[in-house]
Amino acid sequence: MTFEEIGLHPAILKALADAGYTEPTPVQAQAIPAAIEGRDLLVSSQTGSGKTAAFMLPSMHKLAVAAQDNPLPAVKTPNQERQSARARGERPRYAPAQPKMLVLTPTRELALQVTTATEKYGANLRRMKAVSILGGMPYPKQMQLLARNPEILVATPGRLIDHMNSGKIDFSQLQILVLDEADRMLDMGFIDDIETIIAATPAARQTMLFSATLEGDVGRMAERITREPQVIRI
Ligand code: AMP
Repeated sequence: MTFEEIGLHPAILKALADAGYTEPTPVQAQAIPAAIEGRDLLVSSQTGSGKTAAFMLPSMHKLAVAAQDNPLPAVKTPNQERQSARARGERPRYAPAQPKMLVLTPTRELALQVTTATEKYGANLRRMKAVSILGGMPYPKQMQLLARNPEILVATPGRLIDHMNSGKIDFSQLQILVLDEADRMLDMGFIDDIETIIAATPAARQTMLFSATLEGDVGRMAERITREPQVIRI
């Protein structure tokens, strides 16, 4: 199966051709069509298998198609809101970001890799900004990034909770949640943070969980947070 046969958005196909991707890896060939259909996914796969594209490509495809169907933003971006407020002579307020997709990762390094990959795959798409929310990064810089109202957040759990608690993020518009390297996140003790974050997202979201193993704690969490998932073992 080719990326064209899967039916990805033309702007994404062009980015893949530019990146020299000629065909999907095995995990991509299974995961992308199921994710486009709207299925939840439970995927056991290793780093190097192409798992990042396995969740980013169908997600970006779906967000791009939805944006085509609704070409005008329903609400002003936070920056536009502040400009109008200033024009009216009011003190601008900082409206929370309303991301459509959230990727949780165990480490800063992985989050940055996912964000870089997203920029590559989305190079020809408009309105497909990805922002990393990471521990150790200065708060003012992250607040500036959130104020751009990015479609996609890639975050480590602890720092994301800090921004949620200070009202900088509203998950009411979230459509897609990805847990990348879920087993490592649990090993690092992020279970409570993950549960808090998930509880703030809409129940009707699509959830994709990637992990080296799907047994034990990961399996139990997966049962709680996914609905009739397609299980893919590579
Ligand atoms: P990952 O498993 O997501 O860390 O990806 C491993 C590496 O494979 C990354 O450098 C990707 O850019 C690359 N890659 C992912 N999918 C493909 C593909 N279909 N064809 C060629 N390279 C790919």
